[in-house]
Parts: sequence; structure tokens; C-alpha cells
Amino acid sequence: MARKVLVLEDESSIRGFIVINLTRAGYEVIESESGEEALEKLRDNPDVRVALLDIMLPGIDGFEVCRRIRATNTRIGIIMLTARSQEMDKVTGLMTGADDYVTKPFSPAELTARVDALFRRAGGAAPEQVGEILQEPFLLNTRNRTLEKNGQRVKLTQVEYSIMKMFMENPGKALSREEILDTVWGRDYFGELKIVDVNIRRLRLKIEDNAQNPTFINTVWGYGYKWGF
Ligand code: CA
Repeated sequence: MARKVLVLEDESSIRGFIVINLTRAGYEVIESESGEEALEKLRDNPDVRVALLDIMLPGIDGFEVCRRIRATNTRIGIIMLTARSQEMDKVTGLMTGADDYVTKPFSPAELTARVDALFRRAGGAAPEQVGEILQEPFLLNTRNRTLEKNGQRVKLTQVEYSIMKMFMENPGKALSREEILDTVWGRDYFGELKIVDVNIRRLRLKIEDNAQNPTFINTVWGYGYKWGF
């Protein structure tokens, strides 16, 4: 199975650092230095499973690249490369469809752990049990990893899908943010709990009738979230 990762970074020293470390970890790395080039290379390599996107680039920026990738591809895992000063960018990146972010400067171990975790989720894991979970108006198909609401397909990223699956397997149960982070992102994940909230916010926009007044994903104050009533 191809272990292809795309790296979009205009600074050659950082790009080189990423390429060396991911190659060492067993990945085939496709390099690009501009957003336009990255989109072209992704078209030529539809089997790329994880993309690392720098944000500040000449030409179209990393957010726009992320948006364009997500417009046609929900399966690929996307990690944004952010600078420490770009706190807000993390959130913006996640709202445009990224699954994760890594803050520069990062260690080789951190980088590889993040890519490994996403790679497993983006289709590298063992096939799931065949089945469907029906909770009107939602139907979750665990074979195709798809969600329908009232018979209409809701386009989800892999992370959003995993959160929905966790919710629908635990109706009415309060799930802590730590529990969600462990289950969806994996125990080896380095990131912050905030990533859970950002993904939930995005998921609500997709599945709630009114995201301002959610009825499916309920907040359990000071703890986490609960599916249903
Ligand atoms: Ca840059």
C-alpha cells in the first residue's frame, strides 16, 4: 500500500527537514513549494493519504489550498504547519477542513507521530466491521464511512466521521473531551483539548438544524459532549 505524503512548504530548509524525517519513517514524500504546485501534484497522485500544508506561501495560501483539497477530497488527512505566533491560524485551518496542526519548530518525533496518527485514520487502519447505525434522522454507514441525514449525504472529514461514530455508539452518554481526544486522535496524540471543541463546532455546522442551538450534540459544561438527550 502506498505510504504517500505530500509536503507543501516554500522554505527549502524546513521542507528538507520534513522530507528527510518522513522518508526515514518509511513514507514516500512528494514535495511542493507553492499551493498551485501542490494541487497539481495531488491530482497526479490521488493515492496521497496525508498532506502537510504550510500557511504562509507566495501565491495562494495554505488555507485556500486546504479548502480546495476538501472541496473534492474528504478522505485525505490534512495537517497545517503553523508558526507559534499564528494562534488563530490553527482554528482557521481547522475550520477550513484541516484535521490537525503542528506548530513550528517541531521535533522529528512529533512530526512523525502526527503523520502516523492521521495516516492510520485516513484509511490505513484495519477495515472496520460492516454495518450501519441508524438513529433518526441519521444513518451512519461504517463500511463506507459515510453519514446521511434525512437521506442526504453529509460530507464529513475522517475526524468528523470518527467523532460521529463515537457519539452514535454512545447515545445519551456524557463523553469527556479527553475521552473523545483519546478515541478519535489516539492516545499518542500530542495536541490540545481545544482541537476537540473546534471539530465539534464544525461538525455542528454540518449536522445540526441550527448550530447556534444544537439539539444533537449537546454540551456538558465543564466536561465534554453528549449525543442526543
Ligand atoms: Ca512559508
